[in-house]
Amino acid sequence: MIIDCHGHYTTAPKSLETFRQRQIDGLKDARLAPGKDSLVIGDDEIRDSIEGAQLRIQRERGTDLTIFSPRAGGMGHHIGNAVTSALWSGICNELIHRVCALFPKNFVGVCQLPQSPGVPPANCIAELDRCVNEYGFIGCNLNPVPSGGYWTDPPLTDRYWYPLYEKLVELDVPAMVHVSASCNPAFHFTGAHYINGDTTAFMQFISADLFKDFPTLRFVIPHGGGAVPYHWGRYRGLAQDMGKPPLKDFLLNNVDFDTCVYHQAGIDLLTKVIPADNILFASEIVGAVRGIDPETGHYYDDTKRYIDKVDWLSAADREKIFSGNVRKVYPRFAARAAQ
Ligand SMILES: [Zn+2]
Repeated sequence: MIIDCHGHYTTAPKSLETFRQRQIDGLKDARLAPGKDSLVIGDDEIRDSIEGAQLRIQRERGTDLTIFSPRAGGMGHHIGNAVTSALWSGICNELIHRVCALFPKNFVGVCQLPQSPGVPPANCIAELDRCVNEYGFIGCNLNPVPSGGYWTDPPLTDRYWYPLYEKLVELDVPAMVHVSASCNPAFHFTGAHYINGDTTAFMQFISADLFKDFPTLRFVIPHGGGAVPYHWGRYRGLAQDMGKPPLKDFLLNNVDFDTCVYHQAGIDLLTKVIPADNILFASEIVGAVRGIDPETGHYYDDTKRYIDKVDWLSAADREKIFSGNVRKVYPRFAARAAQ
């Protein structure tokens, strides 16, 4: 079985985006704010939006199941306030639940959290609990920078985040560290802000002792871990200078990386530097990079091809990357599969 741990509902029906625009307009003029019930999306619309996109790509590329969450760029935690984020997150998560209910063999849900800059993340506990216990979701996306690129909230290792971590541990679900759109013009959304977020989160974990307080808390750092594998020597050296244990012992019981790296040399490096126990297969379809690589003739985000070509991976390593590690990192996935 091949499980893609990182997919977003980027093909949701247009009416979702229209609702969001009306919600944003309503922040300036309350008379324009839509009621939650004004958004009506039929099951057929959902089926159409999935069958021609994510489901077709699963079939074409030979993958079986996607761990699926709302469009990350659309989370927009910097927009409005906690009330805005609560309504929007609830709607987006419900849609993911409906996709998973319509295609239970192909999708398992992960939720967006109703974060807001400067609002303590304890605010997200109720929605996380609802998504896990009512919808059967198996994880969440946690935005380390709800300000959309201005880094105004404390680092992920600060006690500010602890109430949310306590809930993640209690529910036994991991968080994928995932930024949303950038509203800072210095940072391109998927080209800079995403990779910054991944890299910064890892360095935050090195700089503190978060996992002493939460030995079973797990994070997935997407996009191949940002710059981390490429600069593994730098991070090992920095940790050493700080008197930390070797990174493998210090962080790799709690931090994993996905394979959303869109070229062969990048996947080669990832699989040489990071142990197979800590790599989870992912493509992030339909996502950040949608074109065909003229050098290979294949889609950049067809990441399974790259892993298939890494000849130093054993059969056991491959099995871990394609599905075994998901069962370890997302215990609720395993529990669900056993039912
Ligand atoms: Zn993503």
